[in-house]
This record gives sequence, C-alpha cells and structure tokens, in this order.
Amino acid sequence: MSKVMIIGAGGVGGVVTHKCAQLPEIFSEIILASRTESKCKAIAEQLSRPIRTAQIDADNVPDLTKLLEKEQPSLVINVALPYQDLTIMDACLAAGVDYMDTANYEPLDTAKFEYSWQWAYHERFKEAGLTALLGSGFDPGATNMFTAYIAKHYFDEIHELDIIDVNGGDHGYPFATNFNPEINIREVTAECRHWENGEFIETPAMSKKASFTCPEDVGTYNIYRMYHEELESLTKHYPTLKRAQFWMSFGDSYLKHLEVLGNVGMTSIEPIMYNGQEIVPIQLLAQMLPDPSSLGPRTKGRTCIGCVVKGIKDGKERIIYLYNTCDHQDCYKEVQSQAISYTTGVPAMIGAKMLLEKKWKADGVWNIEQFDPDPFMEDMNKYGLPWKVLELTDFDLDDSSKTQTADGKAV
Ligand code: NDP
Repeated sequence: MSKVMIIGAGGVGGVVTHKCAQLPEIFSEIILASRTESKCKAIAEQLSRPIRTAQIDADNVPDLTKLLEKEQPSLVINVALPYQDLTIMDACLAAGVDYMDTANYEPLDTAKFEYSWQWAYHERFKEAGLTALLGSGFDPGATNMFTAYIAKHYFDEIHELDIIDVNGGDHGYPFATNFNPEINIREVTAECRHWENGEFIETPAMSKKASFTCPEDVGTYNIYRMYHEELESLTKHYPTLKRAQFWMSFGDSYLKHLEVLGNVGMTSIEPIMYNGQEIVPIQLLAQMLPDPSSLGPRTKGRTCIGCVVKGIKDGKERIIYLYNTCDHQDCYKEVQSQAISYTTGVPAMIGAKMLLEKKWKADGVWNIEQFDPDPFMEDMNKYGLPWKVLELTDFDLDDSSKTQTADGKAV
C-alpha cells in the first residue's frame, strides 16, 4: 500500500494515472500534480476511483520540496518534460522521496540530451538511501528491458542490437506529433549517432533509411536510423555490443512537413524578436500543432516496437527478435489515449510497481536495464503490453534496396 505523486498531466501522465488507478492494492493513494491543475482534474474525472490533484511548477525546487514534505509520497513518477528532471530529482533528495522518469534530462536552451547530468546524482541518492530509476517508458524503458531479457535468456554474449520503433497509426492530420511536439521535433532533427566498434559515429539526421515488414500484418514501413537515448546506457551496460542502432518509422508527409518547417526556421530553439516580444520558434510551433493527448479518438492502426539482437549462444550465432504490437483504438477504449502515450505510460506504471513492491531495490541512480528484467516482462504481459519472441534466420538493415522481414519461428 503506497502513496505516489505523478507529476505531469499530459498524454503520458493521463495513461500512468489510469493504469495506477487500476491497481489500488499497489497504488493506494495517488496525487496527480502539474503546472496546470485543470488538466489533472480532467484526468481525475475519467477515473472510477477518486484521486487528489495539485498545482505545482516543477521548475521551482523549494515549492516542490514543500509539497513533497507535506504529502510524503513513497515515490515521484516524473512524466512532465525532460527539462524538469533535475529539479524534480533535487526536490526528491531534499524531501527524501524515491524518483523515476521516462526521458533523460535535456537543458531547455541546448538541444542535447544525455545521461551525464542525472548519473552525476548517483552518490547523493546512494547516501540518502534513495532510489532513482531512469527511463521507464517504452523507448527508453521497455526496449532496454527487451534487450536485457534477450541477453539474459537467449545469449552468452550479445554483439549487435537494432531497436525498431514502427508507428503504423494514422491520425488523419497532415502533420502532428504523437508526444510533446517540442521534445519530438528536437529529437528527430538531432544528428544521428549509432554505436560502432566502441564509439558513437555521427551521421546527418535521417540520412540512413531501410524498409521493414513488421510481424502480425502491421505492415511494411520506411524506417530511419536516428539517435535515441537508450543507446547511451545500453552500450555502457552491455560492453560486448559491437554495433547498436535505433530506427523509427516516418511517413513521407511527416518528413516533408518537417523539412519545410526546418527550412523556414520554425524548428529552431534560438529566440527571435517579434513585435517587441521574444519568441522561440519551436515553442510557437508546438502551440500551433494538435495536442498529442487529443489524438486518441482519431488514431487508427497499430504500433510495433521491438529489438533484434545478434550474438552467440553455446558457441553458435543466433538472431532473436522480441517485440510488442499495440492497437491505438484498443488503448483509446481502455484509457482514452492513443498508443504512443499508452506504450509509455504502462511501463512507467510497471517500473513504479517494481520499486514499490521492492522487487527492485538499490540506492543510487540506475538505468532500468540494471535491474532484473523478469518481473517487469511478466507484468508487461499482464497489464496491456504483451510481447513475443521470434528466432530469425537472417537480418540485415544495411541493404536499403531490400525489405527486411521479421519472419521467424516463435521461441
Ligand atoms: P505533454 O506535453 O503532453 O505533457 C507534459 C505535461 O508536463 C503537461 O501536463 C505539462 O503541463 C507538464 N509540465 C510541463 N512543465 C512543467 C513544470 N514546470 N511543472 C509541472 N508540470 C509541467 O508530454 P507527454 O505526456 O507527451 O510526455 C511526457 C514525458 O514523457 C516527456 O518527458 C516525454 O519526453 C516522455 N516520453 C517518453 C517516452 C518513452 O517511451 N520513454 C515516449 C513519449 C514521451 P502544462 O499542461 O501546464 O504544459
């Protein structure tokens, strides 16, 4: 029986709150706090059991510390924006509360996300006897757990990792992002980095493309290699990896819009003056685009996100693919949200459950793959994100002239 405070009442915050509310035996008391309290109240009204809400600006450490000291939750689930990670960690340290999130810290004025800032809190959390769990969404989150589970159960040593994130959903808008537009655009316009023989190699954004046919008739999609934050922690924690890449599907319309918006300067994070007022173009653009939490009713289709790992078992090479597919409309029926928020919010709830049940307990700051994947993977099957494992005979995304199919036998 534990009290949690969820911070952030956007698309992901809505799903985490729904999923935690479904498990009163674990999350006995829930407080949903965010900058705009009316959004917390709107989510609270969708639930079948009462929760409390609060107004908080998580950039303000003294105010947040005061709120945490007053409420004394066992855990803060941070699903605000990556800009708030450090201030929320500071307040958790000051108030003596465990912490978890779904995205690593990114400074507001520099489009650069990495773990160094949060890893630097390790000793302080350790000395305080507190746990900080980093990256418990889908990617990062479930994809880290998929890799850890594959490494644990199917290999003696893993050598290559391809994380493939396909969103086969259609919301009917010419251009919209499935999660916070500002974070999404900063992520996809960043230089690509992938791991090759002990170092990260930089290539221009969207410069490497492949074609991938998903299992279970989700379809065939163009996928593009890009940098994603779990590559940083996975290559650190699995030093036998010789290559690690992240791929995401993008439709032609999305890419065309992004190119034009970039060309005219609308994706810039540099402030400009307009009519005597300072405006950050990407923030204005984010305001003009559809709110991701409003896409639920109109998004149809499925996501298919998984990891392909090559390595050695008993002296022989093998290829294992572990994936989940998730239907946007099924998610909407259950928690009034599309699958991108759902696939993030469910692993966030499960990560929180692992900590509260003390299935995962270690003082300090930890990436999710540093914990045992087994109880987490069991709960993925139980709470809405079932997964499957296939043994593939070949897999190669290097040859862009051919479509790679995830075709193999179940293991
Ligand atoms: P939204 O923009 O929909 O929601 C963000 C919420 O945070 C809003 O309610 C916003 O409040 C609130 N917020 C922003 N700033 C503050 C602040 N200073 N104090 C308190 N609350 C604040 O984003 P999403 O729900 O789409 O994403 C939430 C998080 O999940 C992000 O960090 C994102 O990167 C991460 N994510 C992770 C994924 C994964 O798989 N690991 C996938 C998708 C998202 P207001 O309404 O006032 O603006």
